[in-house]
Amino acid sequence: MVRADLHIHSRFSRATSKNLTVRNLASHAAVKGIHLIGTGDCTHPAWLKELENELVYNNNTGFYSLKNPLTEEDIFRECSLKLGKVPLQPQFVLQGEISCIYKKNGTVRKNHQLVYFPDFETAKKFNAKLAETGNLAADGRPMLGLDAKHLFDMVLRENNSYLIPAHIWTPWFSVFGSKSGFDSLEECFEDLTPELFALETGLSSDPPMNRLLSCLDRFVLISNSDAHSGENLGREANIFHDMPDYQTLFDALKRRNDLFYGTVEFYPEEGKYFADGHRACGVCLTPEETKARSGLCPVCQKPLTVGVLYRVKELADRTEPVPCREQFESCIPLKEILAELCGVGAKSKKIHACYENLLKIFPSELEILQNVPIHTLAETDQKLARAILCMRQNQVTKQCGHDGEYGKISIFN
Ligand SMILES: [Zn+2]
Ligand SMILES: [Zn+2]
Repeated sequence: MVRADLHIHSRFSRATSKNLTVRNLASHAAVKGIHLIGTGDCTHPAWLKELENELVYNNNTGFYSLKNPLTEEDIFRECSLKLGKVPLQPQFVLQGEISCIYKKNGTVRKNHQLVYFPDFETAKKFNAKLAETGNLAADGRPMLGLDAKHLFDMVLRENNSYLIPAHIWTPWFSVFGSKSGFDSLEECFEDLTPELFALETGLSSDPPMNRLLSCLDRFVLISNSDAHSGENLGREANIFHDMPDYQTLFDALKRRNDLFYGTVEFYPEEGKYFADGHRACGVCLTPEETKARSGLCPVCQKPLTVGVLYRVKELADRTEPVPCREQFESCIPLKEILAELCGVGAKSKKIHACYENLLKIFPSELEILQNVPIHTLAETDQKLARAILCMRQNQVTKQCGHDGEYGKISIFN
């Protein structure tokens, strides 16, 4: 089983960790159990230079590897974990995200698009053209006054390059977003829509929610962490049966063939924009409650931030999802599970020590969450084994995220 996290950021994007260097990303990916990661921010000149200095093209896979392989010392320096073993060696694929802000059909549209390139040469060629539309150095995720359709056209003109709409349901910056999105992909991409083959569901939605829309049936649904720090890598990811190469990766997504297994999902309720509400007013509502209040906040009377569930239901043409072809497994980050078991904060020293102990024994965080047999876990920690069994069986309690605030998933409530 191979995991790929294909949407991340570097320290050159706004509101990201200052620690996000190439080796930092690779180290965290190794700990999480991610075999292939997006480079993030490949349109940013300084980051691209850094990537070129640190990475080397792997002829066998068409991906990039670190010039100097990861060591135990890297894991200690970057993740403060002493694991006493040779780390997994993640590979990289050139990936960026572009924020398109433009007016179409009389309305301001804001959406994020993921782009992928086969090699530095192609990325640089593309960047040179993209730089004519705005300043690429200002932000790792550049904000451009560029129509998403035109961006897609530019990507299609490059050799073996791909575009995938990012976190398609988030309110502020997505193709279907409640604040500045479209009601259909065709309205956004027009005659290029048939060239699209994959959609990123984002943290606040999962495959069954997306399968409420028959117009999305032909798309493969992918999931990525959109990590702004190494710790958040792999909170969502894609699973392949085998290590793909650059071409077979995108072929697998395009043809939805058996190489692609499915996704690791965040519980959508934990996502920051699942339900409707106002964070500052302490208001969190279901779509039905929002409708009953005509979309206005019961505290401040201003329009609510309408979340992903509302928007999915608004555009859905089914009341029950069709059975998903893709597999998915909902996970809670391991440190959050340990924090619940120990009754202390997930960022505390105690939890970090527990986490370190587990990762000395087991291959990676995602292996613990998804694959290590429960009886094997129980030999190390019975309570943890029970918690992970509950999670794997989806016996969890959910408190919904809303208006930019994460929800909370607990096991023993
Ligand atoms: Zn984004
Ligand atoms: Zn309010």
